[in-house]
Amino acid sequence: MYRKLPSVDEIVHRASLQSLVLLEGLVAVTDAARTVLTALREEIGCGRLDQNGVDLALSGLDHAVERSVRQALSYSLRTVINATGVILHTNLGRAPLASCGLDHIRETAAGYSNLEFDLAAGERGKRDVHVERLFRKVLGEALPETSTIVVNNNAAAVLLALNSLAEGGEVIVSRGELVEIGGSFRIPDVMAKSNAILREVGTTNRTRLADYERVITDKTRLLLRVHRSNFEITGFTDQPALDELVGLSRKRNIPLMEDLGSGSLVDLRSLGVSGEPGVLDSLRSGVDVVAYSGDKLLGGPQAGILSGRSDLIARMRSNSLFRALRVDKLTYAALEATLMAYAKGDHAAIPTLRMMRLSIEEIGKRAAAVAAKIQSPKLAIEVIDGESVIGGGAAPSAVLPTRLLAASAHGLSADELAARLRLSNPPVIARVEEGRVLLDLRTVFPEQDEAVIRALGQIAA
Ligand SMILES: *Cc1c(COP(=O)(O)O)cnc(C)c1O
Repeated sequence: MYRKLPSVDEIVHRASLQSLVLLEGLVAVTDAARTVLTALREEIGCGRLDQNGVDLALSGLDHAVERSVRQALSYSLRTVINATGVILHTNLGRAPLASCGLDHIRETAAGYSNLEFDLAAGERGKRDVHVERLFRKVLGEALPETSTIVVNNNAAAVLLALNSLAEGGEVIVSRGELVEIGGSFRIPDVMAKSNAILREVGTTNRTRLADYERVITDKTRLLLRVHRSNFEITGFTDQPALDELVGLSRKRNIPLMEDLGSGSLVDLRSLGVSGEPGVLDSLRSGVDVVAYSGDKLLGGPQAGILSGRSDLIARMRSNSLFRALRVDKLTYAALEATLMAYAKGDHAAIPTLRMMRLSIEEIGKRAAAVAAKIQSPKLAIEVIDGESVIGGGAAPSAVLPTRLLAASAHGLSADELAARLRLSNPPVIARVEEGRVLLDLRTVFPEQDEAVIRALGQIAA
């Protein structure tokens, strides 16, 4: 049976494969031929193929090589359609970038740039100048002493801040804020890695200002407040107001830092989302340093942003950890363009803000249009009321009213139907609830509606 197998060389010189060689190159086709032959040899070796089986495999050899080439040359990281209704979905890459961000990456990263070059002086410059100016503008001239630096993500921002401001000393945190965010970001662990000593105060549900006050000593370096991003504590609870913490921090001359997590630059109350503190709210209240993500509510690239008192930010900038956690030119380009949109008041340019602002009527109209295009005895689709969520650790209990496509397929469970949708090209990611597959068009770009129709249509066929 082994002798029936052609050589790699014979395969790549087959007339029937010459168009593939022309298209994808001899190297890729040779690799694929080798892969296919190895697999066949293994199957023969373990007795899974008889004479007939080998003949059958050989008759489909061209096809197998072609498939192998396609597989090897397809990217692992690919576009998916987010029909979950979770706007900041960490598993799906969080915030989609604004097109101005993509354009600016293209403009600056395809060639050389002045990333660290001062064009006026003709000498080495600093990479942070590219966003510092815009942060000043967006955060308001009302906060003139505010500086900003950018690192790889918010976890890095918190690590850098703790290490710079509190190494060897104590940081006071409420027991109700010792959170785990997911992806193993746990406040006590980050604290340990930063070489600062965690001083827990209060209880899980109740912490008062006096609890902070009581443990302040000459070892205290920082008061830390952490936003409860992914959960809420309700019932018999107590937490000092931010103003009270600011008062204490001023009185005892100990800086106050807030890990905001999401860090919105717009007021979400206009969208009916309350309880999500904005970056400006915190800084205006007198918090000395805030840490927040670039790819959550801000709607930019993955980044960790530290804004606050210039003298404290300067200490972080001069820490050698800052060099280790710094971001590349792609991030600066995307962030600069995103901030420029904020500076211009052009919130519609930012996809996450656009999605949050979509009205239930607009979503309902699109959902009805999609449902109308799938007429099939196999697939039942209804448009029903539902809720979208912001996600990404922002406003955990805030929901936005939406209209959902609720689909069920004859002879398929909801999980099977959802799995079929994931196997579409591009994959469509939906939620399964109460035995039905739910698709929320709030997080689907309007130009992707057609692809959703196609994916559902294939299942209906
Ligand atoms: C999301 C979040 C983080 C981690 O931010 P990344 O940018 O994912 O590293 C840290 N703290 C809080 C409160 C968060 O919500």
